[in-house]
Amino acid sequence: MHDFDYIKARAEAEVVSLLSRDGDSIRILSGGTDLIVQLREGRRQASRLVDVKGVPGANELACDSTAGLQLGAAVACQRICRDATINQLYPGLIDAIALIGGTAIQGRASVGGNLCNASPAADSIPALIVHRAVCVIAGPNGRHEVPVENFCTAPGATVLQRGEFLVLVRVPPPPAHFGAAYLRFIPRNEMDIAVVGAGASVELDESGTTFLSARVALCAVAPTPLYVAEAGEYLAGKTVSAEAMAKAANIAQLAARPITDMRGTAAQRRHLAGVLTRRTLAQAVERARLVREPI
Ligand SMILES: Cc1cc2nc3c(=O)[nH]c(=O)nc-3n(C[C@H](O)[C@H](O)[C@H](O)COP(=O)(O)OP(=O)(O)OC[C@H]3O[C@@H](n4cnc5c(N)ncnc54)[C@H](O)[C@@H]3O)c2cc1C
Repeated sequence: MHDFDYIKARAEAEVVSLLSRDGDSIRILSGGTDLIVQLREGRRQASRLVDVKGVPGANELACDSTAGLQLGAAVACQRICRDATINQLYPGLIDAIALIGGTAIQGRASVGGNLCNASPAADSIPALIVHRAVCVIAGPNGRHEVPVENFCTAPGATVLQRGEFLVLVRVPPPPAHFGAAYLRFIPRNEMDIAVVGAGASVELDESGTTFLSARVALCAVAPTPLYVAEAGEYLAGKTVSAEAMAKAANIAQLAARPITDMRGTAAQRRHLAGVLTRRTLAQAVERARLVREPI
């Protein structure tokens, strides 16, 4: 491990100013579960790390049924998973966030880090996409927002420009009769990254028999997490049925552009994309039909 300077930032403007001045030689430190490993292995270079866990917006966690969820980029997964309101309103997000690493990793790793590391296999990203989550980015020209599905641009790369960092992720309040779910396949029970991951969300009519809208997103089947808009568009207006969900899963499967690597073959990944999409859609429908207790 080479030496680096550690800076504990206290304000958004301070982070922007440091990033604007130092460019490529400085990196944001959140939980460090990706970054420290990458620095040690020489896969990333940085002479200064700026810790954003003391920056108010990046450490904020607020959730209610009218305002939705404000998820500070540096909030540790464990804090999110222990929040009773988030568990009740966003079980589909918890599905994904609870899968990141094991107990030790959960105490450090953040959703912001998972997004900014931009791994094609990042578990939180498909779940955020199907919840219509938006990235709130701070930079030299103030704040602006980018939908999560447009945030990652290539493996390890994002839309963030010089001087910019991710402050928080905003998730809209779940509409009535909404359900979401995330599932992944890994070859062992824990501490591995997805061979394929699939997230789905549905909004049903009051009777729970018709799809008003749906969203599907996949990971580990393309260079970036993949939003499959066509799968949701197919379901909108259709009667809820196993056949309709199987057809949407087939659309997702065809959108996948998997590769063969040490974790699985392209053919296996394509097959899994279909199976997992079908299952997450079914689970999302089940959740959408549950009567939610008022919060
Ligand atoms: C043993 C182990 C198991 C793991 N299991 C999983 C798993 O099951 N699923 C999974 O998806 N991942 C897994 N990971 C990867 C990692 O834990 C996650 O990606 C985690 O969410 C990263 O968050 P972090 O806060 O530690 O990010 P960091 O390591 O602090 O940062 C990651 C990258 O994002 C940048 N960054 C961080 N925050 C910001 C910000 N606010 N603005 C701009 N840039 C920022 C950093 O500069 C760095 O390049 C695992 C890692 C380990 C070591």
